[in-house]
Amino acid sequence: MSESAKGHYTVEDRRKRVEERLKAVYALQVVDNKLVEIEFLLGELPLEFENLRDEIEGLDTRLRRLEEEKRNIEQELTKHHHKREELKIKLTRLEEQMKNVRSSKEFSVLQREIENITLDIQLSEKESRTLQEELNSLEKLIEETRRKREELQQRLVQKEKELKQIIEETRKEEEFLKKIRERYAERVRELDERLYRAYERIRRTYLNRRAVVTFERNACGGCMFLVPPQRQMEVRRREAIYPCENCGRILIDQDLAKEIEEHMKEIVEKRIVEV
Ligand SMILES: [Zn+2]
Repeated sequence: MSESAKGHYTVEDRRKRVEERLKAVYALQVVDNKLVEIEFLLGELPLEFENLRDEIEGLDTRLRRLEEEKRNIEQELTKHHHKREELKIKLTRLEEQMKNVRSSKEFSVLQREIENITLDIQLSEKESRTLQEELNSLEKLIEETRRKREELQQRLVQKEKELKQIIEETRKEEEFLKKIRERYAERVRELDERLYRAYERIRRTYLNRRAVVTFERNACGGCMFLVPPQRQMEVRRREAIYPCENCGRILIDQDLAKEIEEHMKEIVEKRIVEV
């Protein structure tokens, strides 16, 4: 009679039981990873939106400043215009006076005055031309800024729509994951209560919330410490559940991990409730 027939476990039976527990606890880990990812995503998404809104606000402030600058220049231009009007009236009057001049002294006084006023008019015209140039480029800048603001506003509206949709879909996925998490947790507890408690304890200990990890390039996927070849072989044989000697996280070989990850991906995508 073989050992198993007498009620003893063969190596193969033991391996199957270990595998079953590893599969269950890693499936739970995959679900938890996904939940952590979602939590992060939901925290990040509104940030992009906020940045866009800040950018628009910045442009509004800039536009207000540019408009004020424009108003000031326009006022300056009007002032110059009025000033020239007055000077021209004065000039006409002086020129009239020149026709009736009686002395050469009076003539030179009038002439000097006319020269001064003519010069003032020329100066004012020159300044007005400079101001007008400034006004032109300012108007161009205002136009460009308005267009950019309009573009951003449209992007904001689009983004808001997308964001709402993503949040809605993500919430649905989160709801589903929370529901199946209960079942997967229950499954681990049924198989091995101690394993479940260890899982929860390790998960709470580490920031990345990973209690079951693979080893990549001979290093523990959780703490990056070397996993000795002997331990790697033991993990691959699946004769027992082994922790990382450094961080205590439960080790799983990549083949088994990959198999479960693919399985869980399908479950999440197709919203299959199993266990
Ligand atoms: Zn480790």
